[in-house]
Amino acid sequence: MSNDPACIFCKILRGEIGSVKIHEDQDTLSFMDVMPQSPGHCLVIPKRHAADILEISADEAAVLIRATQRLAKAVKSALLPDGIGVYQFNGNAAGQTVFHVHFHVIPRHAGAELGFHARQMADPATLYPLASKIAAAFSQ
Ligand code: 5GP
Ligand code: ZN
Repeated sequence: MSNDPACIFCKILRGEIGSVKIHEDQDTLSFMDVMPQSPGHCLVIPKRHAADILEISADEAAVLIRATQRLAKAVKSALLPDGIGVYQFNGNAAGQTVFHVHFHVIPRHAGAELGFHARQMADPATLYPLASKIAAAFSQ
């Protein structure tokens, strides 16, 4: 499953490095982005390592987008943003920085600028309360 020794998201899946988890199922994990572009920025990854969307099957893509929609709905009901950005990058030239396929779910508030991509580390203490709120919304 999480089988690329050098991949940071595989390390998260194996528990070798910490993360602020929100929800997981058999095939996917949702967790907080450590350099959020807005409060509540989170990520969804498949448990099987694949570099990008071109490397997964149509069935795996379907599983991943279902998990992404579920996370976006939980974010909507937990944080009440004005909008939600769902983003996905493939390849360095497209802005991808971690080469384990993932979707970003980013709450947006009217008039609030998006922070820079993968730039500023959050204090993990700020991520836990957001993650618990979003996690609670999964069971509603
Ligand atoms: P990409 O640029 O590949 O689309 O997005 C990678 C995302 O992963 C970035 O938003 C970045 O902040 C986030 N990220 C990078 N390293 C880590 C990490 O170790 N833990 C977590 N939770 N997020 C990470
Ligand atoms: Zn990986």
